[in-house]
Amino acid sequence: MARKCIIAGNWKMNLDPDQGFELIEGIKAGFKPKANLEVVVIPPMPLVALAAHWVTDSTLSLGAQTSSSFRDGAHTGDTSPELLRILGCRYALSGHSERRGDHHESDAQVAAQAKAQVEAGLKTIVCCGESLQEREAGVHINKIKNQIGIIYDTLPPEYWGEVSIAYEPIWAIGTGKTASPVQAQEIHKMIRDHIESKAGAQVARSTAILYGGSVKGSNAKELLGQPDIDGALVGGASLKADDFSQIIQAYEVS
Ligand code: PEP
Repeated sequence: MARKCIIAGNWKMNLDPDQGFELIEGIKAGFKPKANLEVVVIPPMPLVALAAHWVTDSTLSLGAQTSSSFRDGAHTGDTSPELLRILGCRYALSGHSERRGDHHESDAQVAAQAKAQVEAGLKTIVCCGESLQEREAGVHINKIKNQIGIIYDTLPPEYWGEVSIAYEPIWAIGTGKTASPVQAQEIHKMIRDHIESKAGAQVARSTAILYGGSVKGSNAKELLGQPDIDGALVGGASLKADDFSQIIQAYEVS
């Protein structure tokens, strides 16, 4: 069976309630559901509860940009994954490069977060990817393998089906530079092979591996057409309904 395609829009720390509502209305207006496609909107944390209402009469799914690695308790300022699920989230990101960079989240912390998310009933999209310096130094493959491997070492096997991966080369995030479809496919294949070595062929075959890094309407079709690219994690181009809809439509025609 074909793997699911996930197109997820990460709004980051952008948009106010009116703009968020308008964006979701715009996406819904142009959206024709397709059997194997899931579209996820990922607003900033304070908008999650509102967005849960905005998506209710649609097939759009809701996600969160991060969560605590604890279920609840004395963790001031953190967000419980359990609460996110109760509010209506189906997904949460873990280990976005901006969280790893701005908040020094280590591979082990990202894995703990992913574990808390799946234990709370969320699906986790684990982000990985290298900086330009790491790519140029030739250490990117090992870095990505470590970022992915620890997830399967940390999560019990019954949760492996709740994991998707987003390969996001840091040098392509918000820069307008995209990994070429060939470059992206090469890394996605390597990630799938690594998942196979950690979790077996069935898990590797069924895990969605998304690409992220300056995806837009004009490059989405070719990227999504690669055999191991199963969707897109979109930042900048997810903030306008027309731009995001073009990416969604690129899947429909590929
Ligand atoms: C992201 O931050 O996940 C991302 C891919 O951003 P952009 O699409 O703007 O490069």
